Amino acid sequence: MTKARRLLGVLFAASIVLSACSSGGEATDVPAAAADDTTTTADETTTTEAPTTTTEPPTTTTAAPTTTTAPPVVGLAATDAKAALSPTGIVVPILGKTADGGVTVGTPCGRQATMRNGRPLNGVVVLDAGHGGREPGAVGPGGLTEKELNLAVSKHAQQALEAAGFPTIQTRDGDYRISLEARAKIVETVKPRAFVSIHYNAEPDGPFPKPGAETYYQTVGASAAESKRLSGIIYEEIVAAMSKYEGIAWVADTDAGAKYRKNSQGNDYYGIIRRTQGTPASLAELGFISNAPEEALYRTAEVQKVAGEAVAKGIIRFLTTKDAGSGFTEPYPRETPAGGGGGADNCVDPALE
Ligand SMILES: [Zn+2]
Repeated sequence: MTKARRLLGVLFAASIVLSACSSGGEATDVPAAAADDTTTTADETTTTEAPTTTTEPPTTTTAAPTTTTAPPVVGLAATDAKAALSPTGIVVPILGKTADGGVTVGTPCGRQATMRNGRPLNGVVVLDAGHGGREPGAVGPGGLTEKELNLAVSKHAQQALEAAGFPTIQTRDGDYRISLEARAKIVETVKPRAFVSIHYNAEPDGPFPKPGAETYYQTVGASAAESKRLSGIIYEEIVAAMSKYEGIAWVADTDAGAKYRKNSQGNDYYGIIRRTQGTPASLAELGFISNAPEEALYRTAEVQKVAGEAVAKGIIRFLTTKDAGSGFTEPYPRETPAGGGGGADNCVDPALE
């Protein structure tokens, strides 16, 4: 997320699109100069090769693992599923049934559509890979985009959760744009026991002696206390997992930890956890993609798996223990807004069938 707005005019707008992890201020919807949109298929998030500035060649594998538990395509009206994966690979919440034997679903742009067939999804956990489509989120100096890293890590977390017996739904199952409202609609419909939005950060304050993860919790609503506990546990797990990688020049904000941010009305600032109040939720900034040494680390499939498994382990601990979590810090005041994105302006829905 953007901590400081240092640039003006066109340069500023460009910096939002190209470098900010705009994880939910959602005040504005910044048009992208070059829409990449939905030409990439769900399981082919290949990247262009990063420049080899070190002796160690980067491993450019951000391909998300395929979900092995995908059910067959069926007529959705005959199921009681709360969500579905459309035949084109789009996750949709099921809002009702139509008179002619179909279902009403929510679209990634926040509209309603009708659908007949899809793969029914059920989850006790919902994961949210931040950004997507023409909203890349933060971009590392070597070109790794937050949207592809978030999805790869989220998929690994899903695999680990399902291997442990916790059915999990992604809000975004490929490289397409989906508004914060549409993400929240999936959560509202599925009613999971835990919801985690996965992001990587940009614009740190400076060097830090350990991984600079941040997890944001809800301060308003019935789930606030559990949201804080979830965030404290995920903070513990991601810092423990990343600390195993030695010799990394970590960066962070000085108030790194499990924390909160409020808006001027006293509500939660970030839309993704404000809109999901009532469900224990955490917005997890797992590290700084803008930091070259971290980007090189996060580019590797092994580290993506370790990060995803850390998120999964945290969620499982949250669901199965009364652990309180730790790492809670008092955030310093932030006046500057987070980057735009997450809105539905000019949003074009992908084909569902
Ligand atoms: Zn982000």
